[in-house]
Amino acid sequence: MNERLDFAPDDIVIPSGHFIDGQVQSTDDDMIEVVRPSDGRFLGRIPDGSQETVERAVASAWNAFKTSGWPVRAPRERGKVLRRWARLIEENVTELARLEAVGSTRPIAEATAGDIPTTADLIRYYGEYADKLEGTVTSTSADVTSLLVKEPYGVVAAIVAWNTPLVNAAVKIGAALAAGNALIVKPSELTPFSLLKLCQLATEAGVPPGLLGVVNGRGDTAGARLVRHPDVRKVSFTGSTATGARIMQDAAATGPKPVTLELGGKSPMIVFEDAPDIDRIVTMLARGVVHNAGQVCTCGSRLLVERSARDQVVSKLISAMSALTPGATWLGGTTLGPIINHRQLQRIETLISQSLGGGGRVIAGGTRIENEGGAFFLPTVLEAVDEGNAGFLNEFFGPITAVQTFSDVDEAVALAAHPTYGLAASVFTGNLKTAMHIARRIEAGSIRVNQHSRAPEFTAAAGGFKGSGFGKDWGRPGIEGYLREKTIWINHG
Ligand code: NDP
Repeated sequence: MNERLDFAPDDIVIPSGHFIDGQVQSTDDDMIEVVRPSDGRFLGRIPDGSQETVERAVASAWNAFKTSGWPVRAPRERGKVLRRWARLIEENVTELARLEAVGSTRPIAEATAGDIPTTADLIRYYGEYADKLEGTVTSTSADVTSLLVKEPYGVVAAIVAWNTPLVNAAVKIGAALAAGNALIVKPSELTPFSLLKLCQLATEAGVPPGLLGVVNGRGDTAGARLVRHPDVRKVSFTGSTATGARIMQDAAATGPKPVTLELGGKSPMIVFEDAPDIDRIVTMLARGVVHNAGQVCTCGSRLLVERSARDQVVSKLISAMSALTPGATWLGGTTLGPIINHRQLQRIETLISQSLGGGGRVIAGGTRIENEGGAFFLPTVLEAVDEGNAGFLNEFFGPITAVQTFSDVDEAVALAAHPTYGLAASVFTGNLKTAMHIARRIEAGSIRVNQHSRAPEFTAAAGGFKGSGFGKDWGRPGIEGYLREKTIWINHG
């Protein structure tokens, strides 16, 4: 299956450096070695952005913002450049997909058919949005006109997680640039390379040099320097809840600035006995757990099933999850990629053993897949993981779900609540009243009915409540987050 997508990982040319002034640049910064998640072998090096590098990137971005005309030109013209960039991404799908696959957990088949087309579509979607944002004229006496206009912030920083590197970055890049900002992205030090190629295509498409920058490096060095920089006007972050809290502190360190935080989750999938077409639903549940080996913020890490349907749903889920083919990301037939690294694999194992120590039981999987170099984990179903258990409280960020049962709607709503997270939830039922009742009562930023994972549809905003963050990516709120409102009061009386 898909063997034609196989490629040799050693043949991939790896770019290295930061992206400043519209080109990949090397610096004297300390270098960090990056490995391939699939086999742990050396992939390339990136510089760890020093204070001097961050100063250069911020100055370059401000210079582009002030001199290129990007924020003040007709929004439609910005849209044209972004649409041209989207086309170039599509023309370079093979190279981008291979770069993404070799350096991340994304299997080549999914990178080719999913991540790269989604990246292009996101840039295009926000390019099309550029001239559709409007301010308001407020109510005043006739001798005054009061306008509320929307303007870009200036230089914005985006810090993103490694799990879907290009898509995580593109949703912020497309929105920030379409809104007229300059943007500097700090990708994860674990997955830094594909973004450099994406940015080279931006320059080719006509994005003014300097307007889009990349500072590579570690989170607590390069990332923190960017967040603390007094000339960065806003920070948009995707990552863990703990780092999100740290970003808020750092963002306030040199004068307050707004932050958007897209953080972790512990999302329940709630299945009622009357759910239509159980076989189709189970496919969605399985994908909700194992997509990207569970390394997705909205992973369905809790499965709440109506007691009467429990045995049927769980046995079908286990057989769907065991049909996957684990393997290296450069093999076209791989449907279960690696865990990002051995540190994260050990974290998963520790959490599982703590969960079992707290009364939990494994009913499928539960162990690593022996493999030379890579860190792979079997799709896993746990049970008896109740409130207070480590497996209930913490995000696994692996292909793991824990089953609980309920007997009515109230019990389902009570079980769905989580003390920390409120990112997403899904409800499977044939009863609209049940679905809407639950959708209104669960404290989470996204609720899906009869679907768990996001469809390739960009209009639905995503973002969490509570420890899962605030602010939105995707959709109209995604671009509104990169605009600030200015009142203009004209007394013409
Ligand atoms: P981390 O929070 O560890 O890292 C996220 C990003 O922040 C990385 O680029 C990291 O750099 C950087 N970073 C780390 N420390 C700092 C710091 N002190 N200052 C500035 N930047 C810093 O998350 P993971 O990369 O482990 O990603 C997994 C998490 O992301 C999960 O919790 C997942 O749920 C969440 N996530 C949320 C999404 C959402 O939309 N809600 C989507 C995707 C993931 P480096 O890696 O180089 O250290």
